[in-house]
Amino acid sequence: MRVLITGGAGFIGSHLCERFLDEGHEVLAMDNLLTGSTDNIAHLSGNERFRFIKHDISNYIYVAGPIDAIMHFASPASPIDYLELPIQTLKVGALGTHNALGLAMAKGARFLLASTSEVYGDPLIHPQPETYWGNVNPVGPRGVYDEAKRFAEAITMAYNRYHGLQTRIVRIFNTYGPRMRLNDGRVVPNFIQQALRQEPLTVYGDGQQTRSFQFVGDLVEGLYRLLHSDEVEPVNIGNPHEFTIREFAELVNQLTENPAGIVVKPELRIQDDPQTRQPDISKARRILDWEPRVPLAEGIKLTVPYFRDELQKLGQLPTVADQAPTHG
Ligand code: UDP
Repeated sequence: MRVLITGGAGFIGSHLCERFLDEGHEVLAMDNLLTGSTDNIAHLSGNERFRFIKHDISNYIYVAGPIDAIMHFASPASPIDYLELPIQTLKVGALGTHNALGLAMAKGARFLLASTSEVYGDPLIHPQPETYWGNVNPVGPRGVYDEAKRFAEAITMAYNRYHGLQTRIVRIFNTYGPRMRLNDGRVVPNFIQQALRQEPLTVYGDGQQTRSFQFVGDLVEGLYRLLHSDEVEPVNIGNPHEFTIREFAELVNQLTENPAGIVVKPELRIQDDPQTRQPDISKARRILDWEPRVPLAEGIKLTVPYFRDELQKLGQLPTVADQAPTHG
């Protein structure tokens, strides 16, 4: 296959590029580098089956030659990113998805949309099955992302129903792993960096809100299976093991032996921050024979070395001298 991955220089996109190359396919990674980085794909540049195209897909997309599949992953995805980039987030979710669908039509390509657990908003049903319609505030600060993704799902289904395009929709729940941006503001990069710097972890609100974290390798396996399945309706891909943010902070401190503890920051919690989030993955288990394999503690251990290297490059790790006990 010749596969186009929009957002290919992003966190998830770059892992997808690797997976498709490993399977022997040809990969075109497209990204405007607004939140993605060529650092994430630099190691692929020597591969003759890989090509990077710098382009903002909110504008008309031109690609020469055939395309068999489009994995549509371009979007700011962290709450602080889409708060800072509200118009770009709406544009890439709406115009970008429209352009990517148009390209899929022109090339006769199968199209997979990266949607999100945010379509469920601050959910009133727990855990969330795909049949739940969600509880989204369209005019709140998170609405720019949530509504763009809801629109993206609607237009993807319209292309399927009206044009007969082969489409797939994945609703991705909180995912972590190497190549998350240091300053993307999400809880995993924040906590791991703070722990490595031996600073207290910043728990927003009271820390009783929950999330269910999946390792990126598990997600990529689910995406690969979904693309090759026949399922047109949305499918949740996430790890159902749920933690409060406070429990998660304690786990990170324990795994990194951070003595600095936790600091509670109620004022930093973003408006409409979901109180709970846990995927119901019965459908993925049933139709894809998929479930996550990597427990949180193991996945965090696989992720810490990436952040340690990044902080080392920036000279932001405590030195041995900083850590030496002081003798009076
Ligand atoms: N959060 C936190 N401390 C941080 C960053 C985030 O307590 O340094 C909380 C945030 O308020 C939310 C949860 O962690 O309840 C997950 O936030 P994140 O930004 O990772 O993504 P979200 O799941 O909200 O999209």
